[in-house]
Amino acid sequence: MSAEALVQPLYLVATALFIMSLRWMSDPETARKGVASGVAAMTLAVAGTLAGVAAGGGTHYVWILGAFALGAAVGYPLAQVPLTAVPQRTALSHAFGGMAAGLVGTGKFLLYYGRSDAAALSPFIVVALVAEVLLGFLTFTGSLLAAGKLQEVKWIPQRPVTYPLQNLVNFALFGAALALGAALVLHPLAPWAPWAFGGLATLSLAFGVLLILPIGGADMPTVISILNAYAGLSAVAMGFVLNNKLLITAGALDGSSGLILSVIMCKAMNRSFFNVLFGAFGQAQQTAAGDAAQVYKEDTPESAAQIMAQADLVVIVPGYGMAVAQAQHKVRELYDLLKKRGVNVKFAIHPVAGRMPGHMNVLLAEAEIPYDDLVEMDDINGDMPHADVALVIGANDVVNPAARTDKTSPIYGMPIIDADRARTVYAIKRSKAPGFAGIDNGLYFLDKTFMLFGDAKSVVGELARQLGEGNQA
Ligand code: NDP
Repeated sequence: MSAEALVQPLYLVATALFIMSLRWMSDPETARKGVASGVAAMTLAVAGTLAGVAAGGGTHYVWILGAFALGAAVGYPLAQVPLTAVPQRTALSHAFGGMAAGLVGTGKFLLYYGRSDAAALSPFIVVALVAEVLLGFLTFTGSLLAAGKLQEVKWIPQRPVTYPLQNLVNFALFGAALALGAALVLHPLAPWAPWAFGGLATLSLAFGVLLILPIGGADMPTVISILNAYAGLSAVAMGFVLNNKLLITAGALDGSSGLILSVIMCKAMNRSFFNVLFGAFGQAQQTAAGDAAQVYKEDTPESAAQIMAQADLVVIVPGYGMAVAQAQHKVRELYDLLKKRGVNVKFAIHPVAGRMPGHMNVLLAEAEIPYDDLVEMDDINGDMPHADVALVIGANDVVNPAARTDKTSPIYGMPIIDADRARTVYAIKRSKAPGFAGIDNGLYFLDKTFMLFGDAKSVVGELARQLGEGNQA
């Protein structure tokens, strides 16, 4: 049996499984099936590649096994990170993907160049090689920097770094890389070609850093998703270089899903793509938190529990703080106790609450809160004026009314959950610090708002305890 006849059917099944994986992952109820199908697809892809090597009489198993061991040694600890660190973990995965594409591209170019193989270095293949190396290496350094920013590594600036004519410098650099690429397409075997290739690789690495430096704050997760798209596109280019159809389809799926996710995030934040990439968002956000004129009113969990027990409708608005505190199981207890008392409880889900799309859905699903009570922002906002209590648990930017009213606010125009339209608001957070966007939140200073300062897990636990005691009484 020819290697092709063995490999192609495996690749076809793997492609179908990758597509179904994405389909299933778009719904919390089928997400686990989606993960399993993605794993199965990847296993088939690797098995197909190994079978192809075997059928073709290849003898590279030691290298392949070595790569497996190295990948597992890096991948296993990466999979153990807490859910709140998933964006930076994802950025690291893209960095590795980009690095692999860049290195394969460089290796292939040097191999063909060393053999003076003009046929292998056809214009089509060199275009693919240039795209692979450019996108691969810029994804590598850009993703490393993005991961470092999100992980708040001390020596990496978290806020956007800007300087005069920055976008011009970046475009000039990108233009220079493209010019080197064009020269390589026209003269792939020229004596200077390896130098030009080295220049292209270096400029791509530098461009990745310069592209991410001016981006910061709440835009980082969106940028990571854009880098995901770049990594996917570099895999497509690698697929053309290696003549591997599965790489082309899987890379295209990866690239387009990353792009779609970025568009969804931009829409949820009311930002344009251009603004995310070149807007230096988060730079001049001066927080007014602690302003003497603004006074917080505090309340106790005991009285909050009493108010909630008498409510008809309580809308819980979870945010990043619930994820940090891992408060979802306590939230479930609170939900059960309120339901027992006949209170209608709904969860208001903002598309960018937390640090990744679906973050709140994943946590609440883990606590087995019925999906029917998780209501998307657009659907719940109409009900907010009828809510007796909005209980904001570690959410800040996604309930900030400045997004609706303050044209000077950096989050102006971002759709929010209208917690301020509920009759009473209880907000749980630990301090007076601002949210991810670094700006003050007028919701906390409304007459109807009461703060429950403390860690979300312990405050919600205390609310549940109070309600539980009330139940027994
Ligand atoms: P924010 O980051 O705006 O606010 C989180 C709040 O939680 C903070 O005010 C913090 O206050 C509080 N908090 C943190 N830890 C705890 C704890 N242990 N217990 C109680 N409270 C805690 O979160 P949101 O979910 O409201 O908004 C998400 C932000 O991320 C938005 O700016 C969004 O644009 C951005 N973003 C999200 C993406 C996504 O896909 N989800 C993608 C891109 C951007 P304190 O420190 O005082 O406790």
